[in-house]
Amino acid sequence: MAPVAAIVFDKDGTLTELNSRWVTFFRSIIAATAADGGDPDAEHTLAERLGVGADHLVPGGPAAVKTESELMAIALEHLVNRGWTADQAITSIGVGLEAATFGRLAPLGAVASTVEALAVDHVLGVATSDNRANARSELEQLGIAHHISALRCGDDGGPVKPDPEVLRSLSREWGLEPTRLLFVGDSEQDRDTARAAGTGFVAVVAEPGSEGEPDHPAPSVFGADAWVASIAELVD
Ligand SMILES: [Mg+2]
Repeated sequence: MAPVAAIVFDKDGTLTELNSRWVTFFRSIIAATAADGGDPDAEHTLAERLGVGADHLVPGGPAAVKTESELMAIALEHLVNRGWTADQAITSIGVGLEAATFGRLAPLGAVASTVEALAVDHVLGVATSDNRANARSELEQLGIAHHISALRCGDDGGPVKPDPEVLRSLSREWGLEPTRLLFVGDSEQDRDTARAAGTGFVAVVAEPGSEGEPDHPAPSVFGADAWVASIAELVD
């Protein structure tokens, strides 16, 4: 395997705790949307459709991996299927977005010191489905923005994960073969993106399974080169 010269991180569930940040966010939007539309039951059905549980996002579900515009399209279709007019759905989703409240932003492990150590001899990037403004803000709050050379976001207007072009465009920008890149992410969508782009892939599995063991198959079965509980394990 070619030595890794560049590392690209997914953000949510990889650099930051997924649930503390996003469950509050999605539940606040969904509740306000359902209330505005006068359809209380939609709070439950829309949450289920988007993969938003009471205290966690469904791993790999829409809320965990999709861009805002993709989520809006899913929500719109769901509400119209419930009998809402498209106009009502669009209006109420807008009300929901205005009511959005972020939960706590928490790094997943020793993110700042790890990124600082990796930046010594690697080019670093972030590829996220989140919007650019929020992604930049979170990277600043994590204290790592100055180490991130390139950012690919869900609202850039370019390709989004799982399109391998997300990673290929970074390899071109850095003048590196894709085999010199390592992608670190927490979802099957991240794995598929890495595999299609021809980069290495390390899976972050932060949540233990019910038996106290990680709730996942062996790395090779999942298609990952390795599992880590946090990115701190990338530093040896
Ligand atoms: Mg993720």
